[in-house]
Amino acid sequence: MKLALHTCCAPCLIGCIDWFLGSDGTTVDGEPFAVDDVRCVYYNPNIGPADEYARRRDTFADYAIGRGLDWVELEYEPDAWWRAIGDDRRFGVRCAGCYRVRFERVADWAAAAGYDTLATTLAISPWQNLDAINATGRAAAATRGLRWLACDLRPLYRAGQQRAREMGIYRQKYCGCELSLNE
Ligand code: SF4
Repeated sequence: MKLALHTCCAPCLIGCIDWFLGSDGTTVDGEPFAVDDVRCVYYNPNIGPADEYARRRDTFADYAIGRGLDWVELEYEPDAWWRAIGDDRRFGVRCAGCYRVRFERVADWAAAAGYDTLATTLAISPWQNLDAINATGRAAAATRGLRWLACDLRPLYRAGQQRAREMGIYRQKYCGCELSLNE
């Protein structure tokens, strides 16, 4: 399996990368998988303001390089994110568009780059809507001929945060968008 792993941030990646790399993984659907090749794909146009985006991106890149992980950053497109969330900007409602634009862009990249499977580090966060993540991810993957790894990695969250704290890794205090910053 060649996995394109949408990566939201370094702390979440730290918490779950070993789970993805483990050869005896099983999805929430009970489907076994084994990762032969993984590329972390940083596409998070939701993050604002721009200096916060850069800080999270740099933190992620430093960790990926130090860990010897393959990674790529796709273009920062905040305008695409604002279009994707639409006019109803309530928490939860806008998050559906936020997931969709991120997963669809990563799926496009993955399909073009020869990857066959898609997943996200967002599946580790207890602050996210896991059902919406998996439904959106499945749709984005299926329409591009990719497999979606439906994961529930929330049990790994605390240990990942603790590890990031011990490493002195920057841990952000809000989800990502400027709307969540102000909430
Ligand atoms: S709160 Fe988080 S998931 Fe929801 S729209 Fe903002 S950045 Fe996206």
